[in-house]
Amino acid sequence: MKKILSLFTISLLVAACGTSKNKTATVKAPADPIKYAETITAEDLKTSLYVYAGDKFQGRETGKEGEKMAINFLKKHYTEDGISAAKSDGNYFQDVPLVISATPDVKVTVNGKTFTNIDDYVSVSTAKDGTLNTKDIVFAGFGIEDSNYSNYKNLDVNGKVVVIRSGEPKNVDGKYVISGTDKASKWSNFRQEFASKQEIAKSKGAKALLFYYPEVYAMAANRFGRSSGRMSLAGGSDAMYYMLINTNLAKALVSDIETNEKSMSLKSDLSINYKNNSENIAANNVAAIIRGSEKPNEYIVISAHLDHEGIKDGIVYNGADDDGSGTVAVLEIAEAFAKAKKDGNGPKRSIVFLNVTGEEKGLLGSKHYTDNDPIFPLADTVADLNIDMIGRTDPKREKKNRNYVYLIGSDKLSTELHNISEMINTKYMNIDLDYTFNDENDPNRYYFRSDHYNFAKNNVPVIFYFNGTHDDYHQPGDTPDKIQYDLLENRARLVFYTAWELANREARIVVDKAAK
Ligand SMILES: [Zn+2]
Repeated sequence: MKKILSLFTISLLVAACGTSKNKTATVKAPADPIKYAETITAEDLKTSLYVYAGDKFQGRETGKEGEKMAINFLKKHYTEDGISAAKSDGNYFQDVPLVISATPDVKVTVNGKTFTNIDDYVSVSTAKDGTLNTKDIVFAGFGIEDSNYSNYKNLDVNGKVVVIRSGEPKNVDGKYVISGTDKASKWSNFRQEFASKQEIAKSKGAKALLFYYPEVYAMAANRFGRSSGRMSLAGGSDAMYYMLINTNLAKALVSDIETNEKSMSLKSDLSINYKNNSENIAANNVAAIIRGSEKPNEYIVISAHLDHEGIKDGIVYNGADDDGSGTVAVLEIAEAFAKAKKDGNGPKRSIVFLNVTGEEKGLLGSKHYTDNDPIFPLADTVADLNIDMIGRTDPKREKKNRNYVYLIGSDKLSTELHNISEMINTKYMNIDLDYTFNDENDPNRYYFRSDHYNFAKNNVPVIFYFNGTHDDYHQPGDTPDKIQYDLLENRARLVFYTAWELANREARIVVDKAAK
């Protein structure tokens, strides 16, 4: 590995001369990051990775025993390096409440007649266990409230069960009443109807929403009516029951529902009994921080996912590259910054080391951090440097030089970030930065497939460091003996230098291409 030292050395000398001439100057020359970068070594990375991706950690599946060992391993490292917990209560672990979804048992009767779960109705949101017996039922037509058309005008639905139908009204000329054109509004546009009608009913205090939506019923019954076993963030149980209903049940409530759009009270006895079968899973992100010396309230996040696939059919999926490589890189980078701080050369901005859970289940840990519980405000988060798989090479890559890394996302939000990343690489590392996958329209969609995306979607500039896939990707063969530790060292050092620059440069990088 070749470093370009000459230019940098000259600039340091110039800076030193400048300050020595001026006796009142208190600003010291910027510290040299090289000696700290050099503490990130192939040997240390290897030692950590053989433990972290060893069989003992059981593939670190989200919420499982192996993952608990992994988070304790991370905590121990941060503690030993004297790096504080990010959370103000001193806990390195951030709770990430998850659920494995399962079809709830729901019983519905109307005037004593029992209807059948899935055939006649299907629950489409997670609600609390409970029973509702009521005569307070109203029909709210299309379930719309818009400036020039409303089904909720003079209709009190607070604490009541609301029945609605799909679609939106049209004039005699066939044009939509709401848009005045041939274009459907959000009230019947396929992508928005479902949520728009739910939102308005909920905001008006409905206890339950029964939505007659025959066009999608079969599909919804299939999707929500089968225990999916899918893991997701626990959204908190909804206070409102939300069900799609099929023709039998809809007509038992409103006999002419297919043609009626007039709001009215209904004369029926309705009972809903709801039993939630989802399983709660407790998992954790691990977050540590080195506080900035001058701008402690601006944050650079360095992230990697701590989880992997676990054990399947008795075989451990070690995930040495995915993402053991990123995880041990974060630890070594953290240690390098800690050493700098000990020498009085700590970063001017704060650096947050974020190990996230649930990536393999759908970027859940990072989503919890950005969407539910950012430990530090996203508005004060300068960038996320995300590392996911940097220990191997891509056999399908056309250029055959080993010393490369794919960069994704660096230019998407901040031109300045991209330029700094390039400049720093040229100055210190000379790795071949390969932008093959830096395209949202690339069929692999890598830009959307790791944790940086949850930051990017919130307009936090990101760089995703990645070696590409290989034959052992998500296979039991992703083991620590196949890691190319010299490359892992180079790439980890590149992330360190880039973070160093972002943390220490005078002005915070500018976001010039924020998404609307
Ligand atoms: Zn991964």
